[in-house]
Amino acid sequence: MTRRPIIAGNWKMNNNKAEAKELTDGIMYGVSQLEASKMPEVVLAPTYTALWQVYDLIKNEPKLSLAAQNVNPNPSGAYTGEISLDMLADFKVKFVIIGHSERRQMFGETDEFINQKAIAILEKGLIPIICCGETLEQREQGVTDTHLASQITKAFQGISPEDAKKSVIAYEPIWAIGTGKSCDAVEANRTIGEIRKVIKNLYSNDVAESIRILYGGSVKPSTIVEQMAQPEIDGGLIGGASLKADSFIELIKGAM
Ligand code: PEP
Repeated sequence: MTRRPIIAGNWKMNNNKAEAKELTDGIMYGVSQLEASKMPEVVLAPTYTALWQVYDLIKNEPKLSLAAQNVNPNPSGAYTGEISLDMLADFKVKFVIIGHSERRQMFGETDEFINQKAIAILEKGLIPIICCGETLEQREQGVTDTHLASQITKAFQGISPEDAKKSVIAYEPIWAIGTGKSCDAVEANRTIGEIRKVIKNLYSNDVAESIRILYGGSVKPSTIVEQMAQPEIDGGLIGGASLKADSFIELIKGAM
């Protein structure tokens, strides 16, 4: 089974209008030099305020797709400060990142809420990038695999095999996010293999072999080649190193 890799840049709360344009222009130039047939699927996840602009800049560039960093699962109404799937669909957003550890930890998002978002995203025809990951304490206690199995099982509750197959998972050990300390590639591969087994038990071998599972956590141009050489790792969800066009292009090349 060949799974097309994904390189996704999560800009988090960075880039004003001018910065978003400069970064997008740089990425557009970089990808114009690359052969489309060899490229991973390349995804940009700007802030909501930059979505319109980035959409407009990349709309005629099939090598790039757009992601949102979050969504509210309700269709509309009194949810001050929130953004709906209908609004994201206006900008041809293809992916939505959900369950990021920053949202779980800082904004109290629960497994149940993440599951609601996954269902709503798939119903709308978009693709969730469902993040999961353990804390350093959980890793040291040896409960990484059971914690991830619980997060994944809850996130996929009520999702059909067809929709599960289309979904994307990002394994992001919390201790590796933004710390400069990437998880050892072999261990990330092992852990992602365990996540794939959870999917196999929930669904089937076919779904497990089709679903793309990314690694995230201090991915850099210097780590990407070894990470992409691992058979279970289908790409990267990248924060810091996605904020400079040069390093993001190096990451794309590392996945070719
Ligand atoms: C992330 O934002 O999901 C992430 C992995 O960040 P960083 O690459 O900066 O560790």
